[in-house]
Amino acid sequence: MKNLKIAIQKSGRLNEKSVQLLKNCGLNFENYKSSLITTVSNFPLEILFLRDDDIPEYVQDGIADLGIVGENVIAETEADVRYLQRLGFGKCTLKIAIPNQSEARTLADLDGKAIATSYPTILKKFLDENGVSADIRIISGSVEISPALELSDAIFDIVSTGGTLRSNGLKPFADVMASEAILISKNGIDSNPVVRELMQRIQSVLRAAETKYVVLNVERDNLDEIISLLPGVKSPTIVPLAEENWVAVHTVIAEQDFWDKINKLRAAGAQGIVVMPVEKIIM
Ligand code: ATP
Ligand code: MG
Repeated sequence: MKNLKIAIQKSGRLNEKSVQLLKNCGLNFENYKSSLITTVSNFPLEILFLRDDDIPEYVQDGIADLGIVGENVIAETEADVRYLQRLGFGKCTLKIAIPNQSEARTLADLDGKAIATSYPTILKKFLDENGVSADIRIISGSVEISPALELSDAIFDIVSTGGTLRSNGLKPFADVMASEAILISKNGIDSNPVVRELMQRIQSVLRAAETKYVVLNVERDNLDEIISLLPGVKSPTIVPLAEENWVAVHTVIAEQDFWDKINKLRAAGAQGIVVMPVEKIIM
């Protein structure tokens, strides 16, 4: 059987995390920066390194079976692909931004105005949905300087922290789309056993990234309260300690409410708290 191919970004914001995710799934390969394709030595998969703009169409056309790419790029290319898994990295928002001194207040105020962007398809769809007719100017890079050059009245671009907007005298005006990296496939391939195996590995890595393994010591008298604070992962493991009346509690805690939980556990009498990263969670 021919190996499956997965397309990932060759260099740029998604490259490192895409490579790391595949390595965390136990795939062994050289991240050859100079070549377009590399073979995984311990899994029936080849990796194609591409410009992110090309990935959705390569997957749609079956040149690659799978791909990792930003949702924004999928939406912009309007490729017909299947979303297999949201990956939790490469998060950003596509926003319309206007100069600080602009008098625009509502979307209707953009009617007849010029908006510069590298994402004309997504922008056009959004404006159409909102009944706004603006002049979309397609610019491939440095969109944020176009209002200062009087090339446009507004811009539509990727914003993550807002720092680039601020340093160009712009302010956010409307959020249009939230994006993150997505694992995509061509239609109809998700029942392939190799794809299913890879999906299972990816999901176990993603689940693990969201959790910490916590071991803590507590006096038996305080055990009930400690257990009531722990999340509902079945029940925690309780191990007796050499010192009488003391036990060690082993559990996993979600990364997002980690500090809140730890502080409550300490207040309830937990001591000697040890926190460890979790590599994989197999369900
Ligand atoms: P390529 O050379 O592959 O075409 P690129 O320059 O088009 O790369 P990058 O800047 O590497 O693209 O961004 C890749 C993706 O990372 C974006 O399409 C988006 O999904 C995501 N991303 C997350 N945060 C940001 C950000 N602050 N700026 C730009 N892209 C971001
Ligand atoms: Mg690109």
